[in-house]
Amino acid sequence: MALKLSTNARITWCPGCPNGAILVAFRQAVEELVEQGKVRLENIVALSGIGCHGKITDYLNLNSFTSLHGRVIPTMTGVKCANPDLLVIGFSGDGDSFSEGLDHLLHAARRNSDIKLFLHNNQIFALTTGQVTALSPKGMKGKSTPLGSIEEPFDACSLVKQAGATFVARAYAGDIVKTKEVMLAAMTHKGFALVEIIQPCITFFDTRDYWQEQIKAGKVPLGIIHQETKPTFEEFL
Ligand code: SF4
Repeated sequence: MALKLSTNARITWCPGCPNGAILVAFRQAVEELVEQGKVRLENIVALSGIGCHGKITDYLNLNSFTSLHGRVIPTMTGVKCANPDLLVIGFSGDGDSFSEGLDHLLHAARRNSDIKLFLHNNQIFALTTGQVTALSPKGMKGKSTPLGSIEEPFDACSLVKQAGATFVARAYAGDIVKTKEVMLAAMTHKGFALVEIIQPCITFFDTRDYWQEQIKAGKVPLGIIHQETKPTFEEFL
């Protein structure tokens, strides 16, 4: 029997926003995991931070929690420590986890906490209508940088891998099937997993053409970038 993972909440993302594709990919991944008996639905917890991505918990008929800005990671680690049997999945944005809560992210990766983070990377603070984040490209013009950003961005995957993450992957939201596959791999990995999902903000920073060209030319590594096996923080605990 098909699971009912949708809710009655009205979707308020801009029409056509790739956040919708991430939502579809995630629901499909959960369905597969549950149908294959790899996890019980009641043992999945979805959390989010603050930003456009954060609405996703309203649209998932799962145990869920919407946390504070930049604080999705400590909330996830608290849930996992309290009940290590849970599959703890967090959604976050680049503003939420790389500008606001970066310290939490790096320490969770360093500890190999057994939690999974799906990063909606639109390279902008979108909910506040367009300011630079730590992942915005140099030169990006936005509300806070009308003449163009003068800062170099982090490479999300490299940074988190260097911090100690045992699973790092990248997906493009425009490809729902591959995004779902990478999500599934992250959800069945034991240890800290980051999936950077390139998710253009079609309203304030529309990079769809840029990313499609980059991907077509093979200039952006997609799929699993790094995976290794190590004891987790919760096992030591
Ligand atoms: Fe999506 Fe951008 Fe609209 Fe937010 S502002 S819902 S990220 S298109």
